[in-house]
Amino acid sequence: MPDKRDYTAALLERTGRLLTTEAHAEGLLPVQWEVLRYLDRANRFSLSAAALTAYLGLTKGTVSQTLNTLETKGLIRKRVDNHDRRSKRLSLTARGRRLIQKDPLNATRDALARMASQTRDELNDSLEEFLTARLILQGRKAFGQCRDCRYFAPQHEQGTPHFCRLLDEPLTANDSEAICFEQEPA
Ligand code: SF4
Repeated sequence: MPDKRDYTAALLERTGRLLTTEAHAEGLLPVQWEVLRYLDRANRFSLSAAALTAYLGLTKGTVSQTLNTLETKGLIRKRVDNHDRRSKRLSLTARGRRLIQKDPLNATRDALARMASQTRDELNDSLEEFLTARLILQGRKAFGQCRDCRYFAPQHEQGTPHFCRLLDEPLTANDSEAICFEQEPA
C-alpha cells in the first residue's frame, strides 16, 4: 500500500506538470519564463550567465541559446560587467519588465491568495524545505532569499540599511527580498 510520501510525490509531480503546461504563454517556452523571472528576482551579484546556469541546472549551451533568443526578442540585454570584464551582466529590458507582468505564474499566485494566510505560509516553508533538500541531493545551490542568509546583517552601521558580511556590500530593503547565488541559509 502506498504511503503518504508516494501521495505527496504524486501531488508535486501533478502540480509541476500543470505549471509547465500553463507556462507555454505569450509565445515563450517555460524555460524562457524561468529566465525572465530569475532576472526579475535575482540580486546584483547574481546576474551572470554562470549564476543563471547554476540556478536552472541546465547545460551552458542550453542557457546560452535561451539567452540569445530572449535578447533577439528584445526582452533581455547583456552588458559587459564593470567588475569582471570577461563576464556579461544580464538584465531585463523595459519590454521584458512589461511582459513579466503577464507571467503565467500569476494564476498560481491567484490560487494561493484564496488560501488562508497561515496555510499559505506553512506551504511556503514546507516547499522551501523540500526544494532545498532536493537540490542538496543533486549538489546544487538553494538560491534562497538574501534576508535568510547567514551573511545578512540587518540594520548594520555600514548598511543601507542592511549589509552583506560576505561581499562587504550595503544592501537595501529590496535587496533583502532578492535571491542570491552566494546565499547560504542561516
Ligand atoms: S547576505 Fe548572503 S544572500 Fe545576501 S548578498 Fe550577501 S551572500 Fe548574497
